[in-house]
Amino acid sequence: GHRAAPPAREVASVCPYCGVGCQLGYRVRDGRIEEVVGRDGPSNHGRLCVKGRFGFDFLTHPDRLARPLIRIDGAAKDPADCTDPSRARGKFREASWGEALARAGDGLRVIRDGIGPQALAGFGSAKGSNEEAYLFQKLVRTGFGTNNVDHCTRLCHAASVTALLEGIGSGAVTAPFTAVEDADLIFVIGARPTENHPVAATFIKQAVARGATLVVADPRGSELDRIATEILRFRPGEDVALLNAMLHVILSENLHDPAFVAARVDGLDGLRAHVAAYAPEAVEVQCGVPAEPIRRVARLYARSPAALTLWGMGISQSVHGTDNARALIALSLVCGQVGRRGTGLHPLRGQNNVQGASDAGLIPMMLPDYHRIDDAAARATIEALWGATIDPKPGLTVVEIIAAAGRGDIRGMYVMGENPAMSDPDLAHARAALARLDHLVVQDLFLTETAALADVVLPASAWPEKDGTVTNSNRQVQMGRAAVAPPGEVRQDLAIIVAMARRLGLDWTYAHPREVFAEMAQAMPSLANITWDRLLRENSVTYPCAAPDAPGEDIVFHDHFPTRDGRALLVPAGPSDPAEMPDAAYPFVLTTGRELEHWHTGTMTRRAGVLDAIEPSATVSLAPGDLRRLGILPGGWIRVTTRRGTVQCASREDPGLPEGVVFLPFAFREAAANLLTDPRLDPEGRIPGFKLCAARVEPG
Ligand code: SF4
Repeated sequence: GHRAAPPAREVASVCPYCGVGCQLGYRVRDGRIEEVVGRDGPSNHGRLCVKGRFGFDFLTHPDRLARPLIRIDGAAKDPADCTDPSRARGKFREASWGEALARAGDGLRVIRDGIGPQALAGFGSAKGSNEEAYLFQKLVRTGFGTNNVDHCTRLCHAASVTALLEGIGSGAVTAPFTAVEDADLIFVIGARPTENHPVAATFIKQAVARGATLVVADPRGSELDRIATEILRFRPGEDVALLNAMLHVILSENLHDPAFVAARVDGLDGLRAHVAAYAPEAVEVQCGVPAEPIRRVARLYARSPAALTLWGMGISQSVHGTDNARALIALSLVCGQVGRRGTGLHPLRGQNNVQGASDAGLIPMMLPDYHRIDDAAARATIEALWGATIDPKPGLTVVEIIAAAGRGDIRGMYVMGENPAMSDPDLAHARAALARLDHLVVQDLFLTETAALADVVLPASAWPEKDGTVTNSNRQVQMGRAAVAPPGEVRQDLAIIVAMARRLGLDWTYAHPREVFAEMAQAMPSLANITWDRLLRENSVTYPCAAPDAPGEDIVFHDHFPTRDGRALLVPAGPSDPAEMPDAAYPFVLTTGRELEHWHTGTMTRRAGVLDAIEPSATVSLAPGDLRRLGILPGGWIRVTTRRGTVQCASREDPGLPEGVVFLPFAFREAAANLLTDPRLDPEGRIPGFKLCAARVEPG
């Protein structure tokens, strides 16, 4: 008879895609992941979305890099190579690790010693582990000698974090999204969780089924609208006016929580004076929402025994993203909707480890745990731990670094796991800037659009190939475990960072992520009582955590905020400089984002068989009326043009879109949405307004 096949081994880990942080099990047989199953983690209770279940065969895709690559002498860096991988590949030759690391590290050292540390910059990644993020920022700060280190949090929730730190002293969520279970009212604004945080969306749906009131505010209709009690379909870019109008109603009708404000919040008089001008009747035309529903929702929110606010990129990816978040935070504070069960502020994190990478200091103006670079005492603490000096000057942010490269001020870069040649706004300029660098080192799984412009490409390990911790949207620090070996000569990312550090003169000897975690715990009080061994045993621990056997606090700020005096601050929002609004030449609003099947710049998901089969190509979505007016049937070819560029792709009908607004996902290199986007930044969060620019839309 047949011998039964040996059972698959199950390795417990975490999903590498979105910030929900679902726990999963890789079923491994013969060194390959055969299947992925959900495990009972605190954020997913066994559930997974299509990405977590089917998003892993990119590991063995034929494009996967297995050896280091070095640019062939004299092969020109041409931004056009970003969209033509085969042409890009012809400009590289394979090299040994010895040669590649020498070339990679020496090129950066020559710039550091010849021109100066400020001519260097590094982009780390929110898709790596906490340990990698921590070591990467330490390498840039102590090996390069600059704070020019950032990652895609700048393109994601930088505005939210800026406003949260200013208002309540902490950039993390005050409650997990699973707290919707205890909420009477759930306010979702500028987020599409059914697509971008699918498992979080299942908790919202269950809460509504149980009887919670759901309010959805967004310019674009979404699947959640079907179960919403109230829908505020406001005009793109009018977030501040809408939220200030809600504040106006609450304060003028005395619906706020005076006891909470008196005990814990400053700035009410200033806010009251500021929102006096925002009566719903005065701004209804501007908002595109009649006064009555604004008043209704404001009253519902204020009177709700427990209201939780969830927001996403619609709030933060704006040239006034910080103001958007300020207004949202003010709403919660004046009504006392924070610090209790079922209440809270929750910016839904986009990437699996954007919380952890930010906590670890992978940002230019802050050290680990958000100690400001220009705080001498904080710097001294970390300098003592590291035995190194840290530049007191805050570094440049993602978009600023690319702009500086374009001017020739930044001359060398080390990019680990990020893809600015797809993710930055105004790509024509960003790609030209990357091509202009004297020396670019890219560490990634594939020859990405960014790697196409590199001098040295270091083949990286993928998440299922490594051990490490990640921190999700809920502040849950979770253990990821290696399930399979990396292909070919690929090395662990942590080992590559250490090798690069040694080429730059640092005497690092970290051999395992547990050593790095132990050092992080010394640098970061937020990790108190969380150890590597504990995570191996428990898989997930929430920070802050009061004792080695305590579960961690899911709801924080019961009685004080982590500010100097324990009180929160209301900061009036707006008016701010508007985004690039439609005009006669560019009459449409272009908005960009993700879709369910594809992750960010598509590097992994477009090479995952099932995901690619479901959503194989770029489409631009339009309202049915706009399609009709253009004389195009769904699927017909469309050309979208902005002041930065043009892309062409097939159209898709989306009845959820208001007329005059088109949506383009940014995952597709053949129709790269960011060729079109506006590089202007929010003045405080330094985040570009990916959600809104003016466009022309034509058949073709
Ligand atoms: Fe992964 Fe997010 Fe999907 Fe969970 S919801 S399986 S973390 S992509």
